[in-house]
Amino acid sequence: MNIYGLIILAALLACYVLELVADRLNLRALDPQLPAEFAGVYDSEKYARSQEYTRTRTRFGLLTGTFDLFLLLLFWQLGGFNWLDQLVRGWGMGPVSTGLAFTGILLLAKTVLSLPFGIYSTFVIEERFGFNRTTPLTFITDLLKGLILAVVLGGPLLAAVFWFFDSAGAMAWLWCWAAVTLFTLVVQFIAPTWIMPLFNKFSPLEEGELREAIFAFAEKVEFSLQNVFVMDGSKRSSKSNAFFTGFGRNKRIALFDTLIAKHTVPELVGVLAHEIGHYKKKHILQGMVISIIHTGVMLYLLSIFIGHQGLFAAFYMEQSSVYVGIIFFGLLFTPIEMILSLLMNLLSRHNEYEADAFAARHTGEPESMIGALKKLAANNLANLTPHPFYVLLHYSHPPLIRRIAALRALAGGQK
Ligand SMILES: [Zn+2]
Repeated sequence: MNIYGLIILAALLACYVLELVADRLNLRALDPQLPAEFAGVYDSEKYARSQEYTRTRTRFGLLTGTFDLFLLLLFWQLGGFNWLDQLVRGWGMGPVSTGLAFTGILLLAKTVLSLPFGIYSTFVIEERFGFNRTTPLTFITDLLKGLILAVVLGGPLLAAVFWFFDSAGAMAWLWCWAAVTLFTLVVQFIAPTWIMPLFNKFSPLEEGELREAIFAFAEKVEFSLQNVFVMDGSKRSSKSNAFFTGFGRNKRIALFDTLIAKHTVPELVGVLAHEIGHYKKKHILQGMVISIIHTGVMLYLLSIFIGHQGLFAAFYMEQSSVYVGIIFFGLLFTPIEMILSLLMNLLSRHNEYEADAFAARHTGEPESMIGALKKLAANNLANLTPHPFYVLLHYSHPPLIRRIAALRALAGGQK
């Protein structure tokens, strides 16, 4: 094993150990005493169940993480990458088709091997905690639709990337960057109308008190709202949520049917105001710009590393190629991606506070927001006492207690 191999191995193991440490700390931070803030929202039985849910999910995450790492190391050390490459090359296709076949087979194998875990997660864990609403038919069609989308959308993009790197010389990364950016923008634009309806039913929110309250709020903050949609989240899970997708004329806000069923009108307006806050505070735009820059930097670095023969030797390859290089480069950059995701989470948590503050200020009802957050936590069996290190690594949203405290501080300031 050469220096590239050693660096990648060390990086993979270091990330794995870091996750282990975070998990352990998080489990130890589970406090049997219900935080006073949540008295009345959780009873002792529900609180105990929420902690059991965190424990079960953590153990399951450990199992899948260990399996994935073991599988990768085994495939690597047995020379699996070279074996598959030689097999696919033997079919005598052009470089782009060969790359697509290589990547496609790897992804398909990964999907099949992860399947038992997905089934266990949905039909055993989620079922046991009363969340699961997914039928086996929905599970299977989701899987098939996902695969078809990967082929229809991912295939041409990947083909373009392989083609540019094979034929556009030193400027290939720039062309790829343009292609990937264009692709991402188009997909985000068509997602609300073309992609998401493949998985869920979106129906316009019916006339009534809620719809009127929402539109009155949108008008007040000068947010052009064409429509609010109700998504049949209950098709898969009893957990509830709300989100914002698309941009321009295609932007839309969706509330889960499970959310509407359990919240009061002021609480729902609060949730929606939070989503509008993300838009008004330009978090959506910010996210897009960062992801475009990130893609550009990664493609540039890829263009440098793809010429290093040592990277291919580390994986026992007889021949180098763009398609294999992308995978090895991805592995080499695992720790850097981990640090970047940590920074992105930091920014995201900051944005959540901003969106909360926006909602509280413009609805003038921080208490409704607090009520909504508490109900959401109880409904989703959220961990109320996550360890700060775990939060640092994994949380895109601040711990609920912190969000509530921030809203309380705002409420105090208004009086
Ligand atoms: Zn948010």
